[in-house]
This record gives sequence, C-alpha cells and structure tokens, in this order.
Amino acid sequence: MCLYFQCVLLLNIKMEFKYPLPNNKLFINGEFVDSVVPGNKTFKTHNPVNGKVICEIVEGFPEDVDIAVKAARKALTGPWGQMSAEDRGKIMFKLADLIEEHIEQLSYFETLDNGKPLAASKGYDVASSYKCIRYFAGWADKIHGKTIPIDTSFTCFTRHEPIGVVGAITPWNFPVMILSWKLGPSLAAGCTIVAKQSEFTPLTSLYMCELIKKAGFPPGVFNLVNGFGHTVGNAISHHMDINKVSFTGSTRTGRLIMEAAAKSNLKKVTLELGGKSPNIVFKDVDVEFAATNARDGLFGNMGQSCCAGSRLYVQEDIYDAFMTTFTEKVKQLKVGDPWNSEHHQGPLVSKEQHDRVLSYIEKGKSEGATCHLGGARHGEEGYFVQPTIFTNCKEEMTIVKEEIFGPVICVLKFKTVEEVIERANKTSYGLAAGIYTKDLSLALNVSNQLQSGSVWINDYSRIHTQIPFGGYKESGIGKDLSEYAIYDYLSVKAVTISHPNK
Ligand code: NAD
Repeated sequence: MCLYFQCVLLLNIKMEFKYPLPNNKLFINGEFVDSVVPGNKTFKTHNPVNGKVICEIVEGFPEDVDIAVKAARKALTGPWGQMSAEDRGKIMFKLADLIEEHIEQLSYFETLDNGKPLAASKGYDVASSYKCIRYFAGWADKIHGKTIPIDTSFTCFTRHEPIGVVGAITPWNFPVMILSWKLGPSLAAGCTIVAKQSEFTPLTSLYMCELIKKAGFPPGVFNLVNGFGHTVGNAISHHMDINKVSFTGSTRTGRLIMEAAAKSNLKKVTLELGGKSPNIVFKDVDVEFAATNARDGLFGNMGQSCCAGSRLYVQEDIYDAFMTTFTEKVKQLKVGDPWNSEHHQGPLVSKEQHDRVLSYIEKGKSEGATCHLGGARHGEEGYFVQPTIFTNCKEEMTIVKEEIFGPVICVLKFKTVEEVIERANKTSYGLAAGIYTKDLSLALNVSNQLQSGSVWINDYSRIHTQIPFGGYKESGIGKDLSEYAIYDYLSVKAVTISHPNK
C-alpha cells in the first residue's frame, strides 16, 4: 500500500475510531508484510450498522500461503519444536493475559466489524477467548503417551507428537473466539499455524497478531493470511505441506475442504459445520423459564450461531400458553445500535447475510408458514432484521430444513415423545439439541436418542472451554474445545523396543 494511502488511513483512524485500527497487512514469520503478489491488492471491511467502509485490508494469495507455510514449518522444526512444553505453556499463558488486558480494544473491534452488541463481544466472545487460551496453556505440559505391556522382552510406548503445520480457516460469526478455539489446542500440542480469517471480519484476528508478537512466540509459530475463500482458503486446504486443516464454517465449504484434503496430501481435517438444531419443550415445563431459554437459544448473536435452536418443538398440551409467553418474550428484544447497552440485537454481519435471511423469510411465507411476528428488515440503514417467528411450519418446508443463520425461528407442534424424537432427528445436521422437562428420566431417554453432538437439558448454548463441541452427521468431524480437541492435533507414534532376556 502506498505511503499516501496509509497516511489517509491514519488520519481517518484519528478522526473516527476509539482505538487505532490494527495493522492491516499479512502476518508472516512474526512480521506484518505486504503480499508478494504485485498489485498491492486490498479488500474492504464494512461496518454492518451503516454499510460504510471501515478500512482496507491487505489481500493475501496462494503465493503468500506458501511463504507462511515455510515459516510455520521452520518454526516447527526450530525454536518452537525445540522449546520445552512448560515454556510453550508459559507463552500461551502470557497470550491469555494479554487478551484479557486488551478486552476493551478487542471487543470494540469485534462489534465494529461484526455488529454484535458490545456487551456480548466483551462478556462472551473475548472473555471466552482468553479463557480458552488459558485452559489449553495448562494442557501444554500434560500431554503424554502411555506404556503398553505386550511381552516381558519388549517395551512399548507411545509418543504424542504435534501433528505439524495446521491450517486454520474461520468464520465471521464469532471471529476472535473461534480463532482461539483453533489456537489453543494447536499451540498446546506444539503445532504451528497458518490462519485465514473470514473476509467479512478480519479486524480482531489482526489485533491478535499484535498480541501474539508481544507474548513472545517465536516467528512463524502463528501466521495470518487474510483474503478470500476461493484463493487463500483453497490454497490452505490443497497445500502439500500442511498436515491438518481445522475449519469452522458452512457445510458446503466443509465438503470442499475435505475434497481438497483427499486430492492433495490426505491431510487430517476437523470440520465444525452448520446446524438446524431442535429445541424440545415438553408439557410439564415452567413455561416462563422455557420460553426465555428458547428465545435466547435462537436470537442470541442475531441467530447467527451454528447451534441456534432454530426448530422449536412444543408439545400440543401447552402450545397456546407457551406461544403467548414466547411471543411476549421475543417482542421484548430491542433491536438497534450495538453500542447502546439497551439493545439485545444488532445488525447481521453483511448485506449478503441480510438479503439471504430476508429471502428465507419470503420463502417461508410463500411455502405457507404463518409469519407470526416480524418478517421484515428493521430500520432504513444497515443490515438489521426483525426478530421473526414462523408458526404452522411443516417438516418439508425450506425454512424448517435449511440453516437460515439469522433471527428466524420455526415453531412446530408435537404430540408424543416417540414422534418428536423422530422429527428432531430427521435432518442431515446433528450439531446441538435442547430438551425442557422436569422429568429427568424423560430428559435422559430423549437425550440418548438424539443424533447430536451437544444436548442441553433445561438450558441452551452452554458452550464452555472444558466441554467438547462438534457435530454428528453433516455438522462436522472432530471436536473443538476440551481435552478431546487436543487429540485432533496430535500424531501418535508407537515405539517398540526388543530387549530379549539373555
Ligand atoms: P463459510 O463456509 O462461507 O466461510 C468460512 C470460512 O471459509 C471463511 O474464512 C471463508 O473465507 C472460507 N472459505 C470459503 N470458501 C472456501 C473454500 N473454497 N476453501 C477454503 N475456505 C473457504 O461460512 P461463514 O458464512 O463464514 O460462517 C457461517 C457458517 O459457519 C454457518 O453454516 C455456521 O453454522 C457455521 N459455523 C459452525 C460452527 C461450529 O462450531 N459448528 C461455529 C460457527 C459457525
């Protein structure tokens, strides 16, 4: 980028933003650098509140991915690979502390870029990020193999080695938090990383590079090549010297990544994909409690959550009473400027997402569902959508089958336990599910039969660093978070020593 443009940008920063914007370049081998591809190309990131450009971001290309992979490989065999597990953990603890110290800046940039309410950015996204890095920092020196008894004249043991260079490809809905979900277990396992953040929300990942530099990671341990999916993402998933791709995003892109892995070097994949999660309300519930939970399980993060409880099944005995309370609860959600602490719901992330959600709403109306509440854009400016409830929904309707990823809930009536289990499982997805009942036997019986990676009972969206998260069926492969995630970043080597008794 030419000096003139940088100065203009700097002036802009001073005029418009509370904090100076993060460096907009690629981060490779511990330095912020331009792309090696001639042309100094950039892409714009927008403020979803008004659609205005926040700034330009240096665009990366496959050639930059190549350089980043070389740096990551060098760090893996060099300083990072040679470092003791304890020291690796210490640097990770430092990073967690730095994220916590910079919570104001990180949450500011998350809200600016993504549009989610500031309180959520701060209290959930950034807080989860430092907790996640801290949790995995504690794991760094606790990863070890086993000895295996086979015969007295042999000693066999396993070594848990880092899987190698990890490609991390992340989405726009929880940008800094999901990046941390990839960083935590990779770094604890001793891997190095080439990351690509969603082109819609690059700011917090760039800010994280500054913190990573400050924390003292050796150059090349973490590299960030921002850019587009079909160029940078595609180059990462096809790269012959990347050992694993950890991806969070849509099922459509997940398939492309798995295909690329199969066609290139058979790299391992962790895929955290989409969902169409059932939330089941039985007749014995406290209606007030269940209605509040069901509301928050969908409308949190403006419905842009992979595990959103978007199919709400309500037992017919309490349907009318439940709907009265539920509708009132949804009406209480205040939509507007995400910087205003009274607002629960900000804009959707982009014009594309806004238009996509509105087209699903139109589809729901045209296929015969009743638009019970909302059903239109909110306001004149930006990408806001009204909280929307559809009733009289049928399983075969598009809005019931497909992930909408917006503030739209489909309510469905059911009669029996067997029926609701069958209907809840009748989806290609299997990410999450919720059950509301006071009957613990019923809850556990239903939970055991749901084909889903997470089940919450009398609760929803309880995502915690210590709890594994990841889908069944077309919702994914492998787990993020918890001890389970670490094994996805390790290669197990079995060493057998023969020592015959003389
Ligand atoms: P997306 O698949 O469009 O993009 C995700 C990332 O993949 C982005 O960085 C994008 O640039 C990149 N990408 C796009 N095309 C690519 C390609 N051909 N090769 C490699 N990379 C490519 O998803 P999104 O719209 O950013 O995110 C929304 C989706 O993410 C939803 O389906 C949601 O359910 C899912 N999600 C899942 C989880 C989970 O943990 N299961 C969490 C959050 C979001």
